[in-house]
Amino acid sequence: MKYIIVTGGVMSGLGKGITAASIGRILKNKGYDVTAIKIDPYINIDAGTMSPFQHGEVFVLKDGGEVDLDLGNYERFLDTELTREHNITTGQVYQSVISKERLGEYLGKTVQIIPHITNEIKERIRRVAEKSGADICLIEIGGTVGDIESMPFLEAVRQMHREEEQKDIAFVHVTLVPSDSQGDQKTKPTQHSVKELRQLGLTPDIIVSRCKEPLLEATRSKIALFCDVKEDAVISAHDAEDIYEVPLYIEEEGLTRYMIDMLELVEKSEDRSWHDMVAKMKEMKGSVKLAIVGKYIDLEDSYLSITESLKHAAIECGAKVVMSWVDAEKFCNGGTGAEQLSEYDGILVPGGFGERGIEGKIAAVKYARENDIPYFGLCLGMQVAIIEFARNVVGLDGANSTEFDPESPHPVIDILPEQKSVIDMGATMRLGDYDAVLKEGSIAMESYGNKNIVERHRHRYEVNPNFIEQIEDNGMIFSGVNNGRRMEIAEIPEHSFYVGCQFHPEFKSRPGKPSPLFKSFVEAMIDRSKSS
Ligand code: GLN
Repeated sequence: MKYIIVTGGVMSGLGKGITAASIGRILKNKGYDVTAIKIDPYINIDAGTMSPFQHGEVFVLKDGGEVDLDLGNYERFLDTELTREHNITTGQVYQSVISKERLGEYLGKTVQIIPHITNEIKERIRRVAEKSGADICLIEIGGTVGDIESMPFLEAVRQMHREEEQKDIAFVHVTLVPSDSQGDQKTKPTQHSVKELRQLGLTPDIIVSRCKEPLLEATRSKIALFCDVKEDAVISAHDAEDIYEVPLYIEEEGLTRYMIDMLELVEKSEDRSWHDMVAKMKEMKGSVKLAIVGKYIDLEDSYLSITESLKHAAIECGAKVVMSWVDAEKFCNGGTGAEQLSEYDGILVPGGFGERGIEGKIAAVKYARENDIPYFGLCLGMQVAIIEFARNVVGLDGANSTEFDPESPHPVIDILPEQKSVIDMGATMRLGDYDAVLKEGSIAMESYGNKNIVERHRHRYEVNPNFIEQIEDNGMIFSGVNNGRRMEIAEIPEHSFYVGCQFHPEFKSRPGKPSPLFKSFVEAMIDRSKSS
C-alpha cells in the first residue's frame, strides 16, 4: 500500500480537498486504483448532525454514512464508492479508545494521546486502506497545520512515516502563495507553514502552491530553497476556471511523474476519459436557465452535489445550466410571486428538513405543473410535489406531510408504521442505498435504461400508501417502487418533464457519467429553451 498524506498550511478554504482529489485522479489516469480517507479533527462522530449553513452539504455514502462533503469530491474525482470508515473524526477515535478503556483492554495502563490515540488513528487508516484493495490511499488531514485539534493526527502520520518504507509514503503540503499589490508572489506564508510542519517532525516531499496566476520560476526556486524540497516538487496550483481542470494543471506541472518516481510505481495503462470530459466541458454551447427553489440559498456549498450533478448532465448534453437560487420564503405568501418563475427553463426543489419555506416550495411546484415547466424534485422536492398534487388536483384540502402538520386531515406524506419502530430504536433516518423497480414506459425507465436501480437515501418521511390509489387515479404515477411499498419516484406523464424522487441521485452522479434523471431533466430544459 502506498500512502499520500495531504496537509494544509496558511489558512483554510484553500481547496485542499480538491487538490488532494486531483492528485488521486491523475494517478488514477495512469491506471492505479486510488482510494481516499478524509480526517476531520472535530469532535462530532459524523457530519449527520451538522448544519449545512456551517459546513456545507452532508454527503451520504452507499452504506448510509453521513459525511463531510469532501468525500463527495473524492467519489466524483476518483469515480469510486466510499464507506463511512473513510471519514475519520476525533469523536470516533476518542469514542473507541474510551470504550476499549472501559473494557479493560489497556491492561490498567494510563491511556494517553501517544500511544493510544495515535495507535487508534494509525490502525483505522491502515485497516480502511487495506480493505479498499486500492494501490494508493490518499489521506487528507482537515484543518490547518498548527491547529490544536489536528495535532494527534499529524503525530500519527509522523509515526507512519518512520514505520513505512520511504517509497511507500509521501507528504504533500498545500499552501497559499498570495500576490501583493504590485502583483509579486509572496512565499513567506509558505515558509512559515512549512516551518510549523517541521516543528511537528514532518517534512514535506511536495509543496502544492495555491496561487492566482501560475507560479513564476523565481517563486518556485525560492520555495524550493527555503522549504528544502526539489524544484520539480514545487507545484503550481493556480486558479482554474473549473475544478475539473485542476488535475490537468497539476499533471502539466509534472506532479504525476514526480509521484511515480518517488513512490516507485510501476507504469500502467493510461486512461484519457477525464481529459475527454474536460474537453467536452469547454465545448459547451448555449445555456438553459434553472431556478433552484430552496432554503439554504446563501451558501451554495449546501447543495454542492446537486450543482455538480447538473454540471455533469450539462457537459453530456452540451449546454450550460445557469442556476439561480430562489428563496422559497418569497412565495410563502399564498404563492404570490411564483409567476417570476416563468422566465426559467426548469425548476428544481432540493432536499430539506423543517417547515421553513414549505408553502413557497409548494407554490413553485404548482407553478411548474400548471405551466408545464420541467420540474425535478429531490427528496423533499418529491414530497412537496405530492402535497401540491393532493391538494390541488385530487382535491384533498389540508393535505400535508406530518413533518409539517402532524394534525393534517390528509397526511399524504408520513412515517410508515414499520419505520416508526426503527426510529424508536434510535435509527432516525432511512439512509444509504436502497433499490427500486421501475415501471415500463416511464421517464424513469427511459432515463435509466434499466428496470432495477439502486440510489442513496436520507429521509424519514414517505408517501403514505393509503393515498396511492387516489393519487394515481388523478394522473400522477409512481414509476419507481422499493419493496412493493415505498414510493421512490413520482411522475406526471402528461407533463413534459415532471419527476420527483425520494432518493438523492446527486450522490451517485459523476463527471463523464451523469445521473440518468439529471440528464433527462437537462434535456427537457434544453427542449423547452429551444421551443420558447
Ligand atoms: N424532511 C424530509 C424527510 O425527512 C425530506 C428529507 C430530505 O429531503 N432529505 O423525509
